[in-house]
Amino acid sequence: MKRKLLSLFLLLALLLPFTGCDGLPVASDGGADLAVPADGKTLTVSFLDVGQGDSIFIELPDGDTMLVDASEADQAEGIIHYIEGRGHDTLDYVVATHPHADHIGGMAEVLQAFEVGEIWMPDADCDTKTYENLLETVEEKAIPLHVAAAGKTILSDESLNISLIAPCSDEYSDLNDASAVISLTYGKTRFILTGDAEAHSEEQILASGVSLSADVLKLGHHGSNTSSSEAFVKAVSPKWGVISCGEGNSYGHPHKETLELAEELGIELLRTDLLGTIVMTSDGETVKYGDTESSGNAGGETAVTTTAATEAGGYRWVLNTSSKKIHREDCASAKSISAENRAESNQSVSRLIAEGYTACGTCKPTD
Ligand SMILES: [Zn+2]
Ligand SMILES: [Zn+2]
Repeated sequence: MKRKLLSLFLLLALLLPFTGCDGLPVASDGGADLAVPADGKTLTVSFLDVGQGDSIFIELPDGDTMLVDASEADQAEGIIHYIEGRGHDTLDYVVATHPHADHIGGMAEVLQAFEVGEIWMPDADCDTKTYENLLETVEEKAIPLHVAAAGKTILSDESLNISLIAPCSDEYSDLNDASAVISLTYGKTRFILTGDAEAHSEEQILASGVSLSADVLKLGHHGSNTSSSEAFVKAVSPKWGVISCGEGNSYGHPHKETLELAEELGIELLRTDLLGTIVMTSDGETVKYGDTESSGNAGGETAVTTTAATEAGGYRWVLNTSSKKIHREDCASAKSISAENRAESNQSVSRLIAEGYTACGTCKPTD
């Protein structure tokens, strides 16, 4: 028997009535500046290098984690490796933006690998084996399931708000437009993650009146010209536009209209096909990427992410070349590494992970 999303919701008794964008309380969009956290804790957003697909891993300031999409099935192992490498064994929040295989293909395997707090998915069924596998895994692991829809809040406190600003309807002719669009606000900084939402959904978001200005916009549908309408991108007017796409993909993503629009609006584009995994951090005041707050690679030139500036003559991490662990210098485990296994590095944590290292679970080094 085919499992449908709605029957699963009923099974898990979490179905909430669909609300849509009309008449939504504006407070739920998380758009207003929130309190800047006094504790200086960091939010880290990693746009993973997962070929032609999306997968975004978010480390929240309180240590909780969130995963948005899991690309194709053959990327699952790399996604799991990345998350484990940063010292996590739990995904507190998971969002499957919409049921296309380049977003949920690896999700079932990823869910199996971690403790999972809850999952959010739009009410958009899809008749594929991949989607059915995902629903089966959600059911089997009894993961609490929520309907993703505009106006709903995934989590909210004084400094942090994660809300959905789309889908605004449950009827779409194109599954991409059913994408859950996430607004992630931390202090004064904001990220908007659009899944594959296209111009139609962007229009509905604009019409709903939510505030949109953000520091970072994950451009819709891998930089396709069917997304990133001028009015929407202008309303967001981000400093950085992130495009998640595969090198030499057969769709020609990102399309030249998207690249031209970004250039015209002065938005710096960061592309996973050119840069690999893109890691950004926010302390609630500013978003940082690489060694400065403006990485200067607009137009998607092959600028390589340089690692953060180090103290003069200093180094960032202590490595155990035998156990392949990355430690902060003041970590107790770092101090006990024998001389022959000890190395010092200025590389970014993500680069070291790509080289086979894993982050220490105690001192939790992050970029
Ligand atoms: Zn899609
Ligand atoms: Zn896609």
